[in-house]
Amino acid sequence: MPDYGLPLLFGTFITPTNRNPQAAVDLAIVSEEVGFDLVTFQDHPYQPAFLDTWTLMTWVAAQTESIHIAPNVLSTPLRPPAVTARAAASLDLLSGGRFDLALGAGAFWDAIEGMGGRRLTAGQAVDALSEAIDVIRGIWSVDDRAPLRIDGDYYRLAGAKRGPAPAHEMPIWVGAYKPRMLRLTGRKADGWLPSLGYMKPGDFAAGNAIIDEAAIAAGRAPSDIRRLANIGGQFAAAGQGFLVGPPAQWVEELLPYALDDGVGTFIVSTDDPGTMQRFADEVAPALREAVAAERRSRGTVERGIRSSIALSKRRDGIDYDAIPASLAAAAVEPGDVGFSKVRSTYMRGGSPGLVLRVGSAEEVVEALAFARSQPVALAVRSGGHGISGRSTNDGGIVIDLAGLNSIEVIDERARRVRIGPGARWMDVAAVLGERGWALSSGDYGGVGVGGLATAGGIGWLVREHGLTIDHLRSVEMVLADGSFVHADAEQNTDLFWAVRGAGANFGIVTSFEFEVDDIGDVGWAQLAFDASDTAGFLEGWGAEVEAAPRDLTSFLIMGPPRAGQPHVAQVMAVVDSDQPETIIERLQPLANLAPLLDQTVQLKSYAAIMANSQGGDHTGQGEPIARSGLLDHITPEFAAAAERMLATGEVYFFQIRAVGGAVADVPADATAYGNRSANFSVVAFGSHPQVMDRLWADMHAHFDGLYLSFETDQHHDRLADAFPPATIARLRELKVRFDPDNVFRDNFNITPLQVHG
Ligand SMILES: Cc1cc2nc3c(=O)[nH]c(=O)nc-3n(C[C@H](O)[C@H](O)[C@H](O)COP(=O)(O)OP(=O)(O)OC[C@H]3O[C@@H](n4cnc5c(N)ncnc54)[C@H](O)[C@@H]3O)c2cc1C
Repeated sequence: MPDYGLPLLFGTFITPTNRNPQAAVDLAIVSEEVGFDLVTFQDHPYQPAFLDTWTLMTWVAAQTESIHIAPNVLSTPLRPPAVTARAAASLDLLSGGRFDLALGAGAFWDAIEGMGGRRLTAGQAVDALSEAIDVIRGIWSVDDRAPLRIDGDYYRLAGAKRGPAPAHEMPIWVGAYKPRMLRLTGRKADGWLPSLGYMKPGDFAAGNAIIDEAAIAAGRAPSDIRRLANIGGQFAAAGQGFLVGPPAQWVEELLPYALDDGVGTFIVSTDDPGTMQRFADEVAPALREAVAAERRSRGTVERGIRSSIALSKRRDGIDYDAIPASLAAAAVEPGDVGFSKVRSTYMRGGSPGLVLRVGSAEEVVEALAFARSQPVALAVRSGGHGISGRSTNDGGIVIDLAGLNSIEVIDERARRVRIGPGARWMDVAAVLGERGWALSSGDYGGVGVGGLATAGGIGWLVREHGLTIDHLRSVEMVLADGSFVHADAEQNTDLFWAVRGAGANFGIVTSFEFEVDDIGDVGWAQLAFDASDTAGFLEGWGAEVEAAPRDLTSFLIMGPPRAGQPHVAQVMAVVDSDQPETIIERLQPLANLAPLLDQTVQLKSYAAIMANSQGGDHTGQGEPIARSGLLDHITPEFAAAAERMLATGEVYFFQIRAVGGAVADVPADATAYGNRSANFSVVAFGSHPQVMDRLWADMHAHFDGLYLSFETDQHHDRLADAFPPATIARLRELKVRFDPDNVFRDNFNITPLQVHG
């Protein structure tokens, strides 16, 4: 007899009466308070004595915090499935993944017809339900980009947009009694939800047999289908009938359903808070204990709730069963609903075999140990904005640090802050801005702290305040051997040196401590120029930027020329002053460079400038192709080469950023960052690697260094471009010490000395 080994859950079944509209809501709140896992409501949309079930469930979701909510069961003939799919997913998103769906084929056909529904025979109703399940799942499959077309006998969709996907792996349970419905349940559903009151002894076992056979024929495991049961009873003196007696009698009578009929969820039908309380206090724990004891003695292993469809999407090379239990909640697999949100990065499409969304340094240690034991690629992700770093992969493991995103002030006087790698720079700017502080980071608020603060950090305040790494005072990190270390100017000094410029090669930073600056409102300018004389404009802009005081930092962007239009250059600049005269004085030389097509100058906080990202999940596709270089001066030769390159139309995004200033105040060998004398950082994005290589070969001679964060060419010559020989030699030696097995190699791999030869 089956025991599917699923964890035991308990729910309530509440009448959605509208006589006292709050009553059902209050009972749902009681259900949550006394410890039920689930609250459910019948759905009879033709019944004026009842509240509408969707509306009620939404209201209940808003007034509860942890309990799951489900219809019991939804009247599918009166609920168009495409709309039901969106409503269910929306409620799941709004409630934090607490909505479960249960469908019925339909009953009370006179009433359904009375409400405008279509009368179906019993057989038709099963077929219609089967189509409805396809529609619902089709709307939820957001990974499938083609519009949903279903040409069914009951539901026709002529091209519906997909989404939203539910927040969790939302099960679809089915209320079923007859063989045809039971076969459908086995083929397509995630749960069977009958009421014990409608069943004779032996019906459960017979139903299970039909479901299991249909499941196996469909290539599914019987344990994919949770068995639920609505039960009714009364607490009373012993021996007055089935489930009419004291709690011990309930336990005794329900136990065979759990152990022999595989019921994993018992849903108590009651509108009495006292019954709920007593069931939760005296029946549920005792039944759980009795089932656990019997499972122990039978050797039944409690299994998770991943379906066989999800299991079939697992990738070779990863021993999923070996994922430590402590990481189970952090693990997102290709078959999981949340996978589409974590598979890709901002710029890249990916298909990892496992994403471990860790929540603490301890979990990073565990995740790394697990990843190292698996013969697949490893990627480390913080904010997912890597251009050089490949923080996703194909079939490998991703350690995702997005959850380590705290931003704490640890010393007000010294302006010391501790920041997690998963924090975004716009959130950092917002928190620091509340105190009139800022930390020069980058130009885009969505970028993560982890990738940028281990590489350099060329941002809006760089000329005056240096690179982000120049503000770093210490890090905590997990090394390749799993040790958790602190590195600063006194402890693990070599590591601290390496982390500031080549951190991605040495471990996983779990926390950064920075000293930040006092920065009030600044001048923020966005200027658009007619830069049709591209070389002349670039040269002039470069000269003015170099000549300007350090309180000015400016970036310039150009795209391909467009026929019949001026070739536009967009110039952005921050002037670290809240004095309008100073701001104008700094901007005037730039404004005189060429005809101005557009201009805005505002007084803004640094936080407001950085609030330029919508956030949200990453949906990158393909591979970015970027080439980068560091430049001392914008010489006439460089400017002419840049004009030639842009004229080809192959570069869709070309950017030059001012660096220099305070960056060059730090001694060249103080950190691993490669070239501190450069006044400019240059990056170009194109669509074809070979074309970009050819174009960049023409530019290469002008460069003196390379900022790796903006480069995608993984050839080892790029490392030689990025780091002076002495730096690369020291990095290789340190790699032998800290990562001899070359575990961290996804981002411009500095091979250990011994490997490189
Ligand atoms: C739109 C955009 C704007 C940008 N603007 C700027 C800018 O203004 N200035 C600038 O300097 N850069 C900028 N960059 C580049 C950016 O700094 C790097 O791409 C950086 O790696 C992104 O960090 P992340 O955490 O978001 O990336 P992720 O993709 O999460 O990580 C990138 C790589 O960094 C490494 N890494 C990530 N987290 C850690 C960690 N905790 N410990 C060790 N290694 C880690 C890994 O090798 C990983 O592959 C920009 C990138 C984009 C896409």
